[in-house]
Amino acid sequence: MKLNSLLALGLIFAMLGCSKDDDGTIVNGIDRTPNLQATGSSAHDFLSDSRYRSLVIEVFYVDGFRPQTQTLTNLKNFMQARLHKPDGITIIETQIASPGLAPYDINEVAQLESAIRTKYNAGNILTMYLFFADGGTATDTASQFILGSAYRNTSFVMYETNIHNSSGGVGQPSRVGLETTVILHELGHLLGLVNLGSPMQTPHEDGAHPKHCTNENCLMFWEAGGSGILGMMIGGNLPQLDADCLADLQANGGR
Ligand SMILES: [Zn+2]
Ligand SMILES: [Zn+2]
Repeated sequence: MKLNSLLALGLIFAMLGCSKDDDGTIVNGIDRTPNLQATGSSAHDFLSDSRYRSLVIEVFYVDGFRPQTQTLTNLKNFMQARLHKPDGITIIETQIASPGLAPYDINEVAQLESAIRTKYNAGNILTMYLFFADGGTATDTASQFILGSAYRNTSFVMYETNIHNSSGGVGQPSRVGLETTVILHELGHLLGLVNLGSPMQTPHEDGAHPKHCTNENCLMFWEAGGSGILGMMIGGNLPQLDADCLADLQANGGR
């Protein structure tokens, strides 16, 4: 998800390669391969309980960049409303010291994940990794910068410095509002939206901005610069999935 001076959100997929290109897929006897796949490829595993009955989310944040408590509550509530996980959804928070990597590139983000992530899919437990970074990306400019990125099937990063700079001030969305919007938008990609693993029930992929929704009022719209998403956030409301995106999730096993 990108932001520019007009608050345009855009998708950044840092499509990391498949597991066979990674070294160290088996570490300390744990096979990491199921968590080293392409973004969207585990959509059905998140949505349904056919294979995984519970979900464990590891949240790592650099000291000073902890997400708002309400943001994590919103994430959990959204998941409980959309996913079939009868054995529960658990969030584990861990603070780390700055790794000294800012500005980040996505390969550094992935290497950090390899170093600190402790939970991998096992049995009927699905796992997810979420990192709140102490910086932006190497490609950020003053007028356009990235807020978050879904880069694997169960992994995404939040560039929390950029979120801090873009929220909580006059004419800006609240911190919780922007954090929640970015988290749920990136999660939407892990859930296969749009046309990224959850097949479209009706055509609604934006041809000019692939993997995003054509509805400017939908959480999965590519930008928030217009009256849609930005207006909702500033008005204190959270952008929601529209009927087309919800139908895709439900058809792929979700609620
Ligand atoms: Zn996106
Ligand atoms: Zn939509």
